[in-house]
Amino acid sequence: METILLSACLSGVPCRYDGRAKESAFATEAAEGKRAVPFCPETAGGLATPRRPAEIMGGDGDDVLDGRARVVDDQGTDVTEEFVEGAHRALAVARRTGCTGAVLTARSPSCGCGEIYDGSFDGVLRPGDGVTAALLRRHGMDVRAAH
Ligand code: SF4
Repeated sequence: METILLSACLSGVPCRYDGRAKESAFATEAAEGKRAVPFCPETAGGLATPRRPAEIMGGDGDDVLDGRARVVDDQGTDVTEEFVEGAHRALAVARRTGCTGAVLTARSPSCGCGEIYDGSFDGVLRPGDGVTAALLRRHGMDVRAAH
């Protein structure tokens, strides 16, 4: 049976910044017939729930991993270290459990795949992955966004 990493908030864990889980018919369908390993990079990286919303400033997840961009919350607190730590923990869990892919929450600065918010906190999207999605992709995993 195929094993996938699944954003914990998609599996019913209320770990989003606002203390809620996320419903996604796409995630339910994508996880069907697979072994899903729920994981939340932001809480694994040391952030509390609820927490201030954060966005990537000056780039995307790849830029954060390469030290060219930062993750900052809406009060200006730099949470880059926690996001990078959470991404590495997600990769470690994915490897340890034999995940070949991941179904991740769309648009999150950690889990977003293909599009994320642009750092303005105005709801504006830009192309790019979140920090965890970028790291998993760099290690050959198939990452998919669940809206
Ligand atoms: Fe969900 Fe990912 Fe955000 Fe955790 S980091 S709450 S798993 S979107």
